[in-house]
Amino acid sequence: ASGYTLLRDPHHNKGLAFTERERDSHYLRGLLPPAVVTQELQEKKLMQNIRSYDVPLHKYVAMMELEERNERLFYKLLIDNVEELLPVVYTPTVGEACQKYGSIFKRPQGLYISLKEKGKILEVLRNWPERNIQVIVVTDGERILGLGDLGCQGMGIPVGKLALYTALGGVRPSACLPVTIDVGTNNQKLLDDEFYIGLKQKRATGKFEDFANHNAFELLSKYRTSHLVFNDDIQGTASVVLAGLVASLKLLGGSLADHTFLFLGAGEAGTGIAELIALEISTKTNIPVEEARKKIWLVDSKGLIVGSRKESLQHFKKPWAHEHEPVTTLLDAVKAIKPSVLIGTSGVGQTFTKEVVEAMAAFNERPLIMALSNPTSQAECTAEQAYTWTEGRAIFSSGSPFDPYEYNGNLFIPGQANNAYIFPGLGFGLVIAGAIRVHDEMLLAASEALANQVTQEHYDKGMIYPPLTNIRKISAHIAANVAAKAYDLGLATRLPRPTDLVKYAESCMYTPNYRSYR
Ligand code: NAP
Ligand code: MN
Repeated sequence: ASGYTLLRDPHHNKGLAFTERERDSHYLRGLLPPAVVTQELQEKKLMQNIRSYDVPLHKYVAMMELEERNERLFYKLLIDNVEELLPVVYTPTVGEACQKYGSIFKRPQGLYISLKEKGKILEVLRNWPERNIQVIVVTDGERILGLGDLGCQGMGIPVGKLALYTALGGVRPSACLPVTIDVGTNNQKLLDDEFYIGLKQKRATGKFEDFANHNAFELLSKYRTSHLVFNDDIQGTASVVLAGLVASLKLLGGSLADHTFLFLGAGEAGTGIAELIALEISTKTNIPVEEARKKIWLVDSKGLIVGSRKESLQHFKKPWAHEHEPVTTLLDAVKAIKPSVLIGTSGVGQTFTKEVVEAMAAFNERPLIMALSNPTSQAECTAEQAYTWTEGRAIFSSGSPFDPYEYNGNLFIPGQANNAYIFPGLGFGLVIAGAIRVHDEMLLAASEALANQVTQEHYDKGMIYPPLTNIRKISAHIAANVAAKAYDLGLATRLPRPTDLVKYAESCMYTPNYRSYR
């Protein structure tokens, strides 16, 4: 091993942080300038560089280049500056990066499995350099964030998510595998782009043709009982939103079963959240889940989902078709159902109008309003609107971040229902327990662990999610609760069960500090 190779190996490179002794023993003399610096100083310099870029995409590229050059330093930056860098390596910037992936693409990351590899998938997997993989994130690029079909360029998402599994959850980087399945794209702009890096053909459809928009539900129900899988869009979202609801009970009083929920939007996110709420109510109160569902109503593009529409509904909407006369608008649905919790998951912005929010405030002392659609421009309402239209009584959280807002001398900090609270800790919990399946009760366990991290100090500012600054500690608690559930359900294989799972989780977490080489 030459020093030259060592400097180009991102797993081992430390740059100027190689000590004099290491420079001698690893043939690095002369290959580095004389200064020897600490990891902290490297971090300070890089953060200065990154902060000097005005364009978020430039920050993203700088971070990716760092990852390719010096992996430990990349994770040190991400962990120590999580609130600042999360929007850079993940949403919203990662979305823009995916759109432009063809032109910013330098070195391939992750594993590409395209139709060209049909019959050679084992060979593809063997070509990956790591053997001990614990977490795989896979996309087919068909529906990336709010951006639609990005084909092969969706790779930015598994790469970004796995960076968070490591930074926020503690999974070793070498145990992470990003995968993009490329079966073509229906995005004409990409097909016409001479620089497009994916297969230049329309999406091949197989036996899921009838469910083209909802492969996710089909795939999940097909594999969840036989494989260790979960869908972050459906289940991760559900778990993070449920955590916010459970936390808000401290402000609202009562239990979940005392509330009535109305959703605008009945797709993956909406029905996934609805189902987990029903499961939590049913688990806590012993009422059957079919009964619990009756507390939850959904509105889709055709209006309130009611019994008379049942025949024509997609299968995943049928459980929500309760008996009620047809209602077409959201405002009328709010007036008819009188929900205490209003959740937006339609992807359409400004749909929680002044009238809708005022109606919520008319019959709720503290209306709970979650505007989950992304990006910010698609939020159902802004934090400012929610607070002003309810005279400061709303408990508000959103999918995209909003700045704190001062109303009548009170500072409100809107919570962000970011999936990144849940999936790293959930994944890490599954890993440390050696879980063989993802059971819905593990999602409930994750939600409760997250809700428990909200303190009085947070509640006083209207927050129903803890600050992301403490995410490693939060993830350890989520992982521990998830692992505990895996052991309880007999789905864990790492035996014996550790006595203190929080301590155990913390002790297993990857840390990015440099090692010394002898
Ligand atoms: P989806 O599967 O496409 O579902 C969208 C749903 O909204 C469908 O039921 C659709 O009705 C309905 N809809 C669309 N336009 C509408 C309108 N004008 N009025 C009433 N209903 C309308 O999308 P998804 O995956 O669930 O995602 C939805 C949104 O949630 C996205 O903006 C996404 O960014 C956000 N999201 C947020 C988080 C988070 O905050 N952590 C996580 C995941 C997703 P039909 O069924 O009749 O077509
Ligand atoms: Mn969908």
